[in-house]
Amino acid sequence: MTVRARVGRRGAVIAAALLAARGASAHAAERRALPVPDLPGLKTLKGDFHLHTVFSDGDVWPTVHVREAWRDGLDVVALTDHVEYQPHAADVGTDLRRPYDLARGLAEQLGIILIAGVEITRPAPGTVSPWPVGSAHFNALFVPEPAALAKPDLLDALRAARAQGAFVFWNHPGFMGTLEPRWHSHVDEAWREGLFQGMELVNGADFYPAAYPWVEEKKLTILANSDYHVPTPPRGAGPPRPITLVFARSADAEGVREALGARRTAAWLGDEVWGAEEHLRGLWEGAVEMAPARLDARPGQAAVLRLRNRSAIPFRLRVIRSPTWARAEPATVAAAATSLFDIRVAREAPAGTHDVVLELEVSNLNVAPGRKLVVHLPVPVTVRVQ
Ligand code: ZN
Repeated sequence: MTVRARVGRRGAVIAAALLAARGASAHAAERRALPVPDLPGLKTLKGDFHLHTVFSDGDVWPTVHVREAWRDGLDVVALTDHVEYQPHAADVGTDLRRPYDLARGLAEQLGIILIAGVEITRPAPGTVSPWPVGSAHFNALFVPEPAALAKPDLLDALRAARAQGAFVFWNHPGFMGTLEPRWHSHVDEAWREGLFQGMELVNGADFYPAAYPWVEEKKLTILANSDYHVPTPPRGAGPPRPITLVFARSADAEGVREALGARRTAAWLGDEVWGAEEHLRGLWEGAVEMAPARLDARPGQAAVLRLRNRSAIPFRLRVIRSPTWARAEPATVAAAATSLFDIRVAREAPAGTHDVVLELEVSNLNVAPGRKLVVHLPVPVTVRVQ
């Protein structure tokens, strides 16, 4: 092999390496749209309010979460390192204001709303280890001075959070899916004193059916958070990322704080959404458009409706009520797509124009335990016998 050929080959190897690096960085620098409709007068923000960095037991630098949130189409994240568990303290120190300070610049550049938070991590009373009991873990958001929360007593720590005007929520009421959620006495005590206002209905891959009734009983704000400790693959390449939908008056930290306090949120994991009826109805109405505006049908044939879904949330439909002569099958209106919805018109269908209203259950929109969103789809149908 000549010298020239060797150089040429080395050049090709370097070029290939550069291309690979460019390819990798191009991939990491894409934001994928995550469309969710706004509600009347409110902006829908997509958030994750539970993230760990190397400043507690996470494996990532604070900016990584900001970058990944931007990539995944999110609008707001909170960094919530443990107040009392900092295994990397010898390397990064113990100042829990640092994660926010380090990530703020990137968040501003990318338009991500960044919130300073911490996780208060205590063993449940009567137990020694905070792991893996988890029933005494609370996240405090909007905390400028996290060191003030390092109190030995759980309620004192929560009181210190309140003194800073924090929004506080109870984390993973059933820890890592291993424990049945319980409304523990220390949780009740904190709740009666008004020391927390929200609860994770979803943490990571876990949804807590047993905790769901407490949302209404205790008037809690619903949250769905990832609790990520490590770098994570882009949306679609791994398990679904839990997302808290925040219906805010303004797309900024103050808007997020006001909406969290006012319980204007929903939890979203995979295809399932949990939230108040008026909010989920607003999502459906803002997302779905029907065409054509009226159907022409012939007895014994199927008439086809097109349902366009502008949101990243699919809608699984089940027909509750329709005229006896117009039968519709269960169908899914896919995310960010137009789906066909067949209506079978019976042979004995009466001729003429009918103001048909289909009553549908949106089976993946949960408005209360055991209760799904019900919507009405007006479909004028003209049955032509000839
Ligand atoms: Zn955590």
